[in-house]
Amino acid sequence: MTEPSIFTRILDGEIPAEILAETDRLFALRDIAPQAPVHLLVIPKTAEYRTVAELAAGDPALLAEMIAFAAELAAANTHDGDFRLVFNSGPNAGQTVFHVHAHVLAGGLTEKSVGA
Ligand code: 5GP
Repeated sequence: MTEPSIFTRILDGEIPAEILAETDRLFALRDIAPQAPVHLLVIPKTAEYRTVAELAAGDPALLAEMIAFAAELAAANTHDGDFRLVFNSGPNAGQTVFHVHAHVLAGGLTEKSVGA
């Protein structure tokens, strides 16, 4: 057994955090170290998938749910609904939590950088 991820521990109430919104299969948090005026995380409740590629192969409908949820959150948290979606995949791409999650970045992002 591997240790539960930080996101599973938040979902289970072991670590305090405000859950901004949730569906039956997803939840959203504000990133603790925001890299943009709006920086949210969309996270599947299951920790079964480590990366977006694993999720796409294993449950593409859940990936589509993540994207729809990200759009709803961006609409609720920005004036224009525009957002950038980032999935860091692998340690050399900046991934630190190996429980798949999308970064939803918004608010005055005009540069073309792909980094979170
Ligand atoms: P990654 O680096 O894996 O793409 O993204 C993990 C993200 O989780 C980071 O942006 C980091 O700031 C965020 N994070 C790590 N621990 C916590 C926490 O306890 N609460 C919240 N809200 N975000 C966290």
